[in-house]
Amino acid sequence: MVEPARTSDRSSSELAVADGASGSDGASLPAGGRRRPALSPSRAGDFKQCPLLYRFRAVDRLPETPTRAQVRGTVVHSVLERMFALPTAERDAEHARDLLEPAWQELLAEQPELSALFDGPEDPELGTWLKSARRLLDSYFELEDPRRLEPEACELRVETELESGLLLRGFIDRVDVAPTGEIRLVDYKTGAAPRAIGEAKALFQMKFYALVLWRTRGEIPRQLLLMYLSDKQSLAYAPDEAELLRFERTLEAIWQAILRAGKTGDFRPNPSKLCDYCDHKAHCPEFGGTPPPYPGWPEPDPGPESVLDRTD
Ligand code: SF4
Repeated sequence: MVEPARTSDRSSSELAVADGASGSDGASLPAGGRRRPALSPSRAGDFKQCPLLYRFRAVDRLPETPTRAQVRGTVVHSVLERMFALPTAERDAEHARDLLEPAWQELLAEQPELSALFDGPEDPELGTWLKSARRLLDSYFELEDPRRLEPEACELRVETELESGLLLRGFIDRVDVAPTGEIRLVDYKTGAAPRAIGEAKALFQMKFYALVLWRTRGEIPRQLLLMYLSDKQSLAYAPDEAELLRFERTLEAIWQAILRAGKTGDFRPNPSKLCDYCDHKAHCPEFGGTPPPYPGWPEPDPGPESVLDRTD
């Protein structure tokens, strides 16, 4: 029985792709300043979905334009993180709504290019967008009462090295630890991805984090909780050791396949319904495009950061 951190029992950012795994801090910087290659759930998921998409994002680093929905997700995540920093009694819908505009303004200050999403501060669509973010926050409060929770961490950066040397890295939305020591990982979902595919991707992400937690703390998280704010539903999942061991082998196989493709540049397109969400159709042969010349899989480099280093 899970008793996560004084919770009620009612139960997912890198902004460019709004996936919660920018991994841009320098925690793994060795003395020479070079980051080690790492795999994040987002990039592993990209390669699984379509090797060419992985190449465009991780090797070519082609720019992507964030959508309003992605940016809204980032802002809502930021508000929920800030809310848990408030005194317990102030963790209510009203205080959360008050955090929304400052979180948006702060993001705009960090990434002024996001102002292009709207036609100026008076754009009525900006007001509609902010209202939709408020609705997501209100939905959150229908799923749980944050006054009954004291998370161990929000937006936790995690990293571990597998025995093979593969480095896994990412960010977890929230970690709850029960007084009994049982761990629950929580992921907030705000996007509008098709539910069945979205769930499969989310579970892949959560298993990734469960594996990293297990390998860093020696304890398998008791529960993975996905909170779908847009439709006010939660999905709880209990991983087991055999499953995480299988998942670990899957990640190793994905990484080996990435390295093999990286040597030759043979990243093949794998068209699917998800192409509708791909920013790179103009470069994709499946849509009549031509990829840019393959820049090559970079050798480890003593410089500040290689392309390989940015695979997350
Ligand atoms: S359009 Fe589809 S097949 Fe082409 S790169 Fe994007 S996801 Fe892959």
